[in-house]
Amino acid sequence: APRIVTLGEALVSLRSVGPLTIGGPLSMHAAGAELNVAVALARLGYASSWGGVLGDDELGEFILRSLAAERVDTTHVRRDTRPTAIMFLEARTPEVSRIFYHRKDSAGARLSPHDVDRLLDRDLAWLHLTGITPALSEGARAAVLHAAQTCRRRSVPFSVDVNFRSKLWSEQEAAEVLPWLTEGAEVVIGSPEELALAAPAGKTLEAAAEELLASGVGEVVAKLGAAGARAFTGRHVLDAPAFPVRAVDTVGAGDAFTAGYLSARLDGEDVAARLRRGCLLGAFAVGHLGDWEGLPRRDELDLLDRGPGETHR
Ligand code: ATP
Repeated sequence: APRIVTLGEALVSLRSVGPLTIGGPLSMHAAGAELNVAVALARLGYASSWGGVLGDDELGEFILRSLAAERVDTTHVRRDTRPTAIMFLEARTPEVSRIFYHRKDSAGARLSPHDVDRLLDRDLAWLHLTGITPALSEGARAAVLHAAQTCRRRSVPFSVDVNFRSKLWSEQEAAEVLPWLTEGAEVVIGSPEELALAAPAGKTLEAAAEELLASGVGEVVAKLGAAGARAFTGRHVLDAPAFPVRAVDTVGAGDAFTAGYLSARLDGEDVAARLRRGCLLGAFAVGHLGDWEGLPRRDELDLLDRGPGETHR
């Protein structure tokens, strides 16, 4: 079957219920932007593969087990002697969280172009990349740029979520690399600030979108948080509102949105329906603790259509 492939770094996220300095219980989740997208697409019924390097440790085993339970293919995952990365998500107040990474020199950063070639086999229908992986190491940067280049050469459609992470690299470093990643992508997604980074001459969202479209990008999609999302296709500019939900945990909303948008596109839906599905998955993500645990299966996509507080019998 045609496959949607993502590759990147997976981490174990440990979520606190209060300040980390106080200690107390932590919940353990598989995380990572590309992993989140892979799980979201598998939930919607796609053949979804995640590629990357995991530590040859219990945490790596936990991530593999989580992906297997979600029916994400991990055939080409490599194991390494370096540890699997960890992140702490500290719920400092109900509204404010902080993230602390323990990802330096982790197994995930050992990704190399060799890992990519095995992943991008004949069944590849779509590749999804993010701007996190090229910030991890020289090898990881070479790997994602090679993956994008392979797609351009083989005319396989691919998407990029800019996902700028200031703890991993500077805006200047990102601005140098991102255009090499996004060139020729079918879909580029990001916040307005991130899209401006990927299109260095474009200061406003409109200018950035125009510049990206001129570089051969098919669609530029801006995630606007609780304000919804906006898509630029060259011919149209379309807006979609967010779904009204009580935000419990906004981490992972962006990845859920991306998966929703891509899935509607793969289903052959128009841009308005893609934005709607993106916002719908974003709403599922913010309404639930955890990056992807609350995301819908295909038969649950209409769950938010009825009003809040309803019990479906
Ligand atoms: P993150 O990096 O935290 O995963 P992001 O900044 O990449 O998130 P956002 O723009 O915050 O992405 O959220 C993505 C989508 O999720 C939005 O376009 C919107 O549809 C939905 N969303 C986000 N926050 C809310 C909210 N408070 N209520 C409803 N929907 C939301």
